[in-house]
Amino acid sequence: MSHRKPYQLVSRDWKSADTIIEINGTKIGQDLMMIAGPCAVENEEQIFTISEFLAKQNVKFLRGGAYKPRTSPYSFQGLKTEGLQLMRQAADKHGMSVVSEIMSIDKIDEFNELVDVFQVGTRNMQNYPLLRALSKVNKPILLKRGLSSTIEEWLLAAEYIVSGGNEQVILCERGIRTFETATRNTVDIAAIALVKQLSHLPVILDPSQGTGTRELIAPISYAGVAAGADGLIVEIHNQPNEALSDGDQSLYLDQFAEMLSPLKELARFRQKRFDFEMEQNLSAEKSVYGPAQ
Ligand code: PEP
Ligand code: MN
Repeated sequence: MSHRKPYQLVSRDWKSADTIIEINGTKIGQDLMMIAGPCAVENEEQIFTISEFLAKQNVKFLRGGAYKPRTSPYSFQGLKTEGLQLMRQAADKHGMSVVSEIMSIDKIDEFNELVDVFQVGTRNMQNYPLLRALSKVNKPILLKRGLSSTIEEWLLAAEYIVSGGNEQVILCERGIRTFETATRNTVDIAAIALVKQLSHLPVILDPSQGTGTRELIAPISYAGVAAGADGLIVEIHNQPNEALSDGDQSLYLDQFAEMLSPLKELARFRQKRFDFEMEQNLSAEKSVYGPAQ
C-alpha cells in the first residue's frame, strides 16, 4: 500500500491509465504535442509571419501572450483583447489552435471565445479563485508549475481544477527558482519523470522560461522529451533581437526548424507520434476526454 497522497483525482492511484486530451486532432498525453510562438503577440505582421512559418512546419498549436505578467509595471504588458483577436485570426488561417495565458477571472468569457487552451502562468499557479473558476471551463488548462512550488503543491493546484469538474489539465514544468543564476530558472527534469509516475495527467516542458537562453532550448527540449514529457511549449520570434519580451530565450525561426528532426527521432524512441506526423500509431489502452467545444 502506498502512502496516501493529499491529492486524489489527479493521482495514478485514482486512475491508472494516462489521461488523453484531444484538441483538434492532437491526442495530448499520447502524441508528442508541440506548441510554439512568440512570448507575446506584438503586432499583426509578427504573429502572421510566425504562424505562417509554424504552419509550414506543420505545428498545430500557436502560443502568444496577450495579457503578460511582467515583473516590472513599466514593461510591455501585452496587446490584451486585440492580441487575442490577432492570434485567433492568424491561427484560423492555418487551422491551428491558440494557447494563451489568462491572469484573471473576469477574462474567462473573452478567452472562451478566442483561445483553445487556457494557460495558467507560474505566478498564478496558486491563485485559487482563478483555478476554481477554470474548473468550470470546458476547455483544456495548461497549468505551469509555480516558480517555487513543490511537486505536491503543483499537483494540488491541478486537483483544484479537476475536482471542480474540469479533467482537461496539462501540467507544464517551466523551471523553478534555485540558488543558480547562470540560467533563468532550474529545469527540473526529474520532476517530469516523477510527475508522470505520480499522475495520469499529461506533462509538457517549457524550455524557454526554464533556461532563459536561446542556446539551451534544443538540448533541454531533447532531455525533457527523453525523460517523458508529452510535449513542449517553445518561444520563437521572427526578430528575437527586437522582441518586446523574452527575446534572449526566443529561437530564430530556422533554429526552431532545425530542432524538429532530432525531436522526431526522440519521439520514435519514446514510441510517441509527433502530433503532426501520422505514420506511427500507439496501442496502449487509454481513456479519452473528447474534444473541447
Ligand atoms: C510565458 O509563457 O511567457 C510565461 C510568462 O510563462 P511562465 O508563467 O512560466 O513564466
Ligand atoms: Mn515568455
